[in-house]
Amino acid sequence: MGRFPPLLWLLLLGLLLLPTAAGRVLLDLAGGLLIALLALPVVLGGLGWIGWKVLQSRVRTCEACGLSTMTTDAQCPACGSMLPSKKSGHSSAEAVDDSRPASDVTIDIKAEDVDP
Ligand SMILES: [Zn+2]
Repeated sequence: MGRFPPLLWLLLLGLLLLPTAAGRVLLDLAGGLLIALLALPVVLGGLGWIGWKVLQSRVRTCEACGLSTMTTDAQCPACGSMLPSKKSGHSSAEAVDDSRPASDVTIDIKAEDVDP
């Protein structure tokens, strides 16, 4: 009792090997499950990466004390100094000099015809 009869195994094997509609359905089901199992870590990883990037873009680092915070206030909650604005980036490496007008830093591009 409790053992799977060998006849049922043979029946299942025959169902998979013989080109019947039931065998096709079982194979398609197994293939779909396999693809889902393989794709699940990729999808979850992608969602996690996007969530991490969104979280990272909201975090601002205080230049005075180095505190990383997600506050929307203009001042650091720890030391009270001014936090860098969101458009200037969250790290000092991405800090942009906002004092210069945009027209000064615009790059002019000229189109030229190049003969081969
Ligand atoms: Zn601070």
